[in-house]
Formats: sequence, C-alpha cells, structure tokens
Amino acid sequence: MADLGKPQNTIAVLQKYHFNFQKKFGQNFLIDARVLEKIIQAAEITAEDFVLEIGPGIGTMTQYLCENAREVAAVEIDRNLIPILEDTLQKYDNVEIINEDILKVDINRLAQEKNNGKPVKVVANLPYYITTPIIMKLFESHVPVDSITIMVQKEVAERMQAEPGSKEYGALSLAVQYYAEPSIVANVPPNCFIPRPKVGSAVIRLSSHREKAVQVEDERLMFAFIRASFNQRRKTLVNGLNNSPEVSVSKEEVVKVLEQMGLSSDIRGEKLSLEQFAELSNKLMQ
Ligand code: SAM
Repeated sequence: MADLGKPQNTIAVLQKYHFNFQKKFGQNFLIDARVLEKIIQAAEITAEDFVLEIGPGIGTMTQYLCENAREVAAVEIDRNLIPILEDTLQKYDNVEIINEDILKVDINRLAQEKNNGKPVKVVANLPYYITTPIIMKLFESHVPVDSITIMVQKEVAERMQAEPGSKEYGALSLAVQYYAEPSIVANVPPNCFIPRPKVGSAVIRLSSHREKAVQVEDERLMFAFIRASFNQRRKTLVNGLNNSPEVSVSKEEVVKVLEQMGLSSDIRGEKLSLEQFAELSNKLMQ
C-alpha cells in the first residue's frame, strides 16, 4: 500500500472505500509527510519499542510507526475504518488493530501482554473532543508510560506547558506537569489535514518523570485544591477553597498555612506553583 503521507494516496483510499467522515469522532486525517516524520522523531521510536497508537484513522501514522517500532497496537473506535486499516497496513506483521474506545481499553493489561509491563510509548493524533480524558486516563491509571507524543489543539498544548501566573496556566498544566515534562515540538496548520480543522494544532511530547516532581501525601486532596482554585479563578485561593464542595478546611486554617509558606492571604490560586500546591495540601492534611 502506498505511503499515506502523500495527500493523493489518502484521497484514493477515501474514495475507494466511499469513506464518510464522522464529526463526532474528531476525524481529521494527517496528510503531511514532514509532520509525520517529525512526530516519529520527537517520540524517539526505535526498533525495540512497543507503541500504543490512539485513533489510527486510515493508518497514516501507523505505517510510519510500523516502519520504526518493534510492535504497534492501534486502537480505533470507528468500525468503518477497520477494513480500511486491514488494507493499508497489510504489508506489516507487527501491528494489532483493536476496534475499541480507548477509554474502555485496559491499557495496563495491554502493556503487560505486549511489553512485559515495561514503559510504553504512546503516539497519537488525538480526537480533540476527548484529549483531556485520554491523557488523564493514561496518567491516573498508572499505566507504565515512557512518553506520550500527541497532536492536540494548539491552545491545549500551550495550556499543558504553561507556567504559574500566565493566563494559560490552570488545572491541566498542573496535572500534566505533575506526571510529565511537556515540550511543544511543532505547530501544525489546518492545511496539513483532511478535512481541515477549524483550529490550529500542535505536537507536544510529554516525557514521564523518572522521579516524582513533588512529594504529595494525598494526590486526591491536592487535585481537589487545584480544581477548587481554578474553578473560581477570579477569587482568592482562600475563598476558592472555602466555596468548594470538594474541600472541607476552614478559612483560618488556609490563611495560617499560607502564612507559614510565606504567601499572602489574598493570593490567587493561579500564582501557585506545583510545589506550592503540594506543600499546601501536605500541610493542611496534618
Ligand atoms: N491518526 C490518524 C491521522 O493522523 O490521520 C487519525 C487522527 S483523527 C484526528 C482521530 C482518530 O481517533 C479518528 O480515526 C477517530 O475515529 C479516532 N477516535 C475518536 N475517538 C476515539 C476513541 N474514543 N477511541 C479510539 N479512537 C478514537
């Protein structure tokens, strides 16, 4: 099967199968070989690697992954794409196509079966409507992950990489940075896809921390604090926590701990770093 990084080959496949794009699945297929090569490079795929691909579409990136990795598992929700994938990937014997919703797949089991439980590399041009749930599933289910190299909406990539105090900084920045080090690899314009998305895209690599970024005694509590702080961005941290149904600490306790940390009692949550959220939640647990 011809290289799908060439737009004319993608169009030929779409026509051969009379493929109808499903908006509800966020289907925008990549048609730019340079972007595909950049993703493979950024993900540092080698002949030893097992790669999990989420949403292979018609198999464009999958072809590149099969050429470079030891083994690939590609999870695609749209059953209309399965016969197409069987066709476009027929020359490869190192790929398994799984027709399933990625949010329902037991990724831990897959990593165990395919990679002896060793950290896997995840590569995807993600469906934008479920970017955050997919990333949080990968992190929170404690799947052994080496790195996640993904195409996402440009603004989402910027939020993942944002620093305290910037307007992009929020709960997603802290969640991602708790588990991984993000770095934006490339900006990708709409004309690199069929059909063209309405938004700009970016490739971002999230490299899992080898050692924990911060020591947190109760992760759930820290993330409850983070959500409470950013749900009401314009409020002070003290009021944000006080108004949250998820958090039950008194204003006085929060003010006391902020003082101990050398922070003002009217500071907003958006100014706190990950280290400070960790310290705050550890101190308020005592
Ligand atoms: N990887 C292909 C490419 O780069 O051309 C397709 C990318 S397209 C943005 C996203 C793909 O994810 C689509 O093929 C879509 O059907 C699939 N998808 C959407 N939701 C999914 C889910 N919950 N689980 C698995 N695949 C999903």
